[in-house]
Parts: sequence; structure tokens; C-alpha cells
Amino acid sequence: MLTIDSIASLRKIVGQWRGQGESVGFVPTMGNLHEGHLKLVEEAKKHIDRVVVSIFVNPLQFGPTEDFSAYPRTPSEDASMLGICGVDLLYLPATNEIYPEGLEGGVYVEVPNISDELCGFFRPGHFRGVATIVCKLLNQVQPDLAVFGQKDYQQLMVIQRLVSGLNMPVKIMSVPTVRELDGLAKSSRNVYLSEDERPNAAMIFKSLNLAADRLNSGSRDFDLIVEEQTTFLTRLGFRVDYFSIRNPDNLQLSHESERRFVILVAAHLGRARLIDNLCCPSG
Ligand code: AMP
Repeated sequence: MLTIDSIASLRKIVGQWRGQGESVGFVPTMGNLHEGHLKLVEEAKKHIDRVVVSIFVNPLQFGPTEDFSAYPRTPSEDASMLGICGVDLLYLPATNEIYPEGLEGGVYVEVPNISDELCGFFRPGHFRGVATIVCKLLNQVQPDLAVFGQKDYQQLMVIQRLVSGLNMPVKIMSVPTVRELDGLAKSSRNVYLSEDERPNAAMIFKSLNLAADRLNSGSRDFDLIVEEQTTFLTRLGFRVDYFSIRNPDNLQLSHESERRFVILVAAHLGRARLIDNLCCPSG
């Protein structure tokens, strides 16, 4: 596996592959890799000849009071995992390679409406940061295929809209959430959970399943379902940002007449802000 940190080297290597007629897949990450990230690599490898993984903790998507400096960074462990997985190229740009003009005043990309809902409401500017970095990285790598996790459901929708809205010539593929044995979605932020908090953290997935059971058994009292699960989580010590039942295609609030739902939750437990979601019916 080659490791590079500049756009120039990236273009050169990807250009060589293209010259050989090879297809290119891309998995953007913020590092501190776990099995969720590796699953994205594995899926990419099934469809293309070469895989590029980027690790970049994007300051533009963190709010001023968020965990940008504390975000776990484990570059050497990450590199060995990616090498074992057969990644061809690891792209590790520094902040000034990505934002040479600084964070303020540079060009940014905004995907309207959907970016202000749910996590966007609680993290103003977050999805502008996400859309901007993903747009930049896709322009830098110019892959045929880019792979993202369903764990970040709203992010996936923002990226799908970004790519279709700007007519970017890349296929977006999504991969189901990889979970711990007790159901907790794997996340780099799980390291913030204390030993005492860790078993409770799995209750976030439990709450999604309880809500899905209600919907599957025919209830359409969305307010009641949301209230029940918010109370359930609050009693366990979570501070719930939102628990919401939405249309899986556009993230609008669900209507009684609809048959497909995505249930989304964001909640703080100690230092960790956890997000998760579940589609209903599943599959
Ligand atoms: P991150 O490093 O957290 O920015 O995530 C990089 C990519 O990995 C994103 O597309 C995430 O949705 C995806 N991802 C993170 N955790 C998981 C997981 N548990 N299962 C599947 N994909 C994940």
C-alpha cells in the first residue's frame, strides 16, 4: 500500500491506474478505523480494481464546542489495518493541503433543506462541512465509485444529493451498519464511553427496535412512539437530541399513509454523542 499526502501525488497515481484501464473506488474516513470502515473497503473491492482510502479529520464539520481536538487519531494502527485489507492507496492530506485558503473564506458547498434537519439542527454548519470535504475529495480522487455507511444515514442522503445536484460522475454505494455483538453501532466515538456507560449505550439500538416493533405491528401514532422511546432513553441517562420517524427517501416527517420509515436517533451519553438509525420494514 502506498501512502501519500499531496493532491499532486494522488492525481499522478490515479492517472497511472486510469491509463492502464483500471477502475477506482474511494472510501473517505476520519480514521480511528474499525470493522465498519473495513466493511466499506471490502464492498468497494468487490466492484472496482483499485481502492483509495482517505483519512482526514475535517475541521470544517466540527462546531466550536465539539470534539475536533479530542477526536481519536490512530494513524499507524489505521495504516496497518488498511494494508492487511488490500487497500492500494492511503491518502493522508494535511489541513493546508485541503484548505490552503484557511477554513474561513474558502469555497464551500451547501446542500439545502436536508442539511438543517435532525443532526443539522443540533450541529449548525456540520453538513456544510461534510458536503464541502466530500466534494473536494471526490474532485481530487475522481473515483468511479465512492462508498459510505448507512450508519450516518442523513450524511449519506446529503452526499447523494450533492452528487446528483452537481452532476458529479461518481456512483455512490452504501453499506449497512456494522454493529457490536450487543447491537451498538461501531463508531470511533465509542471510545468516549466509560466502562459503566458502555452496556447502556446498546440501549440506543434497543430503542430503535422497540419503535420499529410498534410500526411493524401497525401503530401510526408517531408522537407516542417518539415520546415512549425518548423517555426510555432519558431514564437510562441519555440526553436525547432527537428521536424521529421519517420518510427514508427524503427525511421528511412520516405520514400515516406511508409504509416505509427510517427511525433516527441522536443522544448523548456521558462524553459521547451517539447516532443510529433503523429502516422499517428492514431490508
Ligand atoms: P467516519 O470515519 O466516522 O467519518 O466514517 C467514515 C465512513 O465510515 C462513513 O461513510 C461512515 O458512515 C462509515 N461508517 C462509520 N461507522 C460505520 C459502521 N458502524 N458501519 C458501517 N459504516 C460505518
